[in-house]
Parts: sequence; C-alpha cells; structure tokens
Amino acid sequence: MKVKSDMGFGTLAVHAGQQPDPSSGAIMTPIYQTSTYVQSRPGVHQGHDYARVSNPTRSALQGNLAALENAKHGVCFSSGVASIDAIIKNYRPGDKIISTNDLYGGTFRLFTQVFEPFGLKFSFIDLSDLSQLEKELTPDVKMIWLETPTNPLLRIIDIKAISDMVSGSEIDVIVDNTFATPYLQRPLDLGANMVMHSTTKYIGGHSDVIGGAICTNSDEWEEKLMFQIKSTGAAPGPMDSWLLLRGTKTLHIRMQRHCENARAIVSFLSDHPKVDRVLYPGLPDHPGHEIAARQMKDFGGMITFTLKNDSLATAENLVSSTNVFALAESLGGVESLIEHPASMTHASIPEEERMKTGLNNSLIRLSVGIEDIEDLVADLDQALAGA
Ligand SMILES: *Cc1c(COP(=O)(O)O)cnc(C)c1O
Repeated sequence: MKVKSDMGFGTLAVHAGQQPDPSSGAIMTPIYQTSTYVQSRPGVHQGHDYARVSNPTRSALQGNLAALENAKHGVCFSSGVASIDAIIKNYRPGDKIISTNDLYGGTFRLFTQVFEPFGLKFSFIDLSDLSQLEKELTPDVKMIWLETPTNPLLRIIDIKAISDMVSGSEIDVIVDNTFATPYLQRPLDLGANMVMHSTTKYIGGHSDVIGGAICTNSDEWEEKLMFQIKSTGAAPGPMDSWLLLRGTKTLHIRMQRHCENARAIVSFLSDHPKVDRVLYPGLPDHPGHEIAARQMKDFGGMITFTLKNDSLATAENLVSSTNVFALAESLGGVESLIEHPASMTHASIPEEERMKTGLNNSLIRLSVGIEDIEDLVADLDQALAGA
C-alpha cells in the first residue's frame, strides 16, 4: 500500500502508516505482543529495542494519526491525560499557560492540582474573546492551550486568529482536537504547533479503549515527546494500539453519520416546547457559527441543550428515562450517550460558578451515536414527554 499525503481522508484513514506484515503477508498490522526485540549484534536491530520506547503496532498507529492530522509526526500515549502530562512537563516553574474557562475537567485538574504546585502558572479565560487574550499576553506566557468546540458549552475558538496573533513569538499554540477529530478540523493547517487527542473518544470510536495522541510538524517536539515516553513510560500497549488502528479506518464514515444524526436531533429539539436552548455550532444563531463554518468541515456529534424548567430534578429524571441513549460520561463512541454535567462531569464546580459560565441546572449533553435516527428521536421524544 503506497499512500501519498495528498490522497483523500478516507484513503489515508484506511491505509496510512500500515504495510502488510513482511514476515507473513498479513494485510492487517499484527498485535506485536512483546516487551523486547532480538539484536543480531549489540545495538544492531530492526528499529525497535525495547517496547516501552517503541512497538511496531504503535508505530503504525502513529503514522496513521500523523497522516490524518496532516502532520510530520504522531506520538501515542496510554491516555489523553498522559499525553497532556507529557507536553506540560516541558515547561518550567514561572512559565504561564493560558487556557479556556470551560476546559475538560481532567485537563483542569492536571493543570491546577498537579502542575500549579510545581510553580507553573495558569490562567483560564474566555478564548472566544480575543481582547481578553490580548490582555493576558504577558512576557511569561509560553503556551496557549485550547479546545474547540469546548465541553460542554460547545463554544467555538478561532484557531487561526489565535495562531496568527502569537506567530513569530515563542508561544506554542496547542489544540485539544478530541471533539472535532481530524476529519472535521485540522489545527496544524490553521497554524497551531501541536494537536492533542483523547483517542478514547471518536478516534477509537467504540468505547473500548483508553488512549492519547499528539501530532506535530516539529522535529524538536517529537524528540521531546519520545523522550518523555522513554523516561516516564506512559506508552499505549500493542492491543490498545491495534484497537485504535481498527477505529481510525472508519473514522470518516462514522463522523459523517454522527454529524447527520446530530443535525436531525438539533432540529427536533429546537422545535420542542419543553426545550429552552439548543447549543450546537451548526445553528446559525450560535455565536461561534461563522468561525465553525470556516474552520470545521461539519459541526460534529455533540449537542447541548437546556430545559424551560431549569431544575436539577427534572434534568435528572429526563437523563434517567431514555432507553437508547445510555446515561454515561465520555463521548465519541458508536452508541448514543446522554449526560447531566451539573450532577456528573462538572459536579465539582460550585453552583454559583457553574451558573456564571452558563452551565445551568437543566443543561444536558448528548453524544449522538450512529444508530438509526428514527429510534434516537423517538427515544428523546418519550423521555421529554415524561419530564
Ligand atoms: C476525555 C478527554 C480528555 C482526557 O482523555 P483520557 O483519554 O480520558 O485520558 C481530554 N480532553 C478531552 C476534550 C476529552 O474529552
């Protein structure tokens, strides 16, 4: 299989990074379940010497993800947060990192509870407002960490505008691209230095693996990240790498169906008398719609909505009464999930803070799967009728 980087996304998803196994002709990359590799003479080997450092199944996945993000390098980790950890360890006490104020909870915990005590400084602002960013750009700023769309409010941040704003400076722009996936959004093409994924979500796509990845065009960053893997060991196992490689092969068609189903559900919810607001970047009245239309190929499979009756109990009843949508944290799998941030993923945020950021009591988040749309709509219809 000789794929070229200018081939279509689907072709790259199926083939990039992979070759039939030279020892058997197996068309699919085997699970190289080994900890070490034989050397013919000291230091003479076939590219791998110890499996913490590298493994052929992992290398195939890295090549595949790099192609999908239009990057020179991909580096994979044992989880999304492990990949963030590997990046942050390259900054030093006194360095300031600017990030969004509705950041993924695990990222926020890592920044404030693990790294702040070591002297790194973080500031959390609304990055969809570039004038706020301008005010924060003091000389100690070394990195901007952003997610777009954000979780769970689905705010849109302009990757190109922020990259342009700091281009020529030493400030790194790093994008957590978990919600959009490279099928919908390619941050490196928009000027970012690095893109990070929780491959646990859409990239894996089947809710059966935990993983993380970073893609970059910088040789220096690739070297730093490989050094972190070698030194601290947050490497994905061969079985997990294989599951992820199987996942990426259908990423493009899964994303098409996620987006198509989400569009239909948005239209159903928008017309429902018990629904107050529907937050979806594909809606023309969404404040980030124009930017999303520019930087994304489509608007994704995540939807957030609030109820006219903004009580915790009503929302809790609703999310407990669906039959097809499963009540669970996480997102991005083939199956549809429903979640209540105020009592689940974002329960640790005090109510007053929650309200200030727009995270209402009745806010409900959907990760729309790839089931038949008629069944998904009927399920929400019956749950809303009982709410
Ligand atoms: C899940 C998630 C992470 C963390 O990834 P894990 O694989 O769970 O460690 C980071 N960012 C976003 C946006 C996520 O959804």
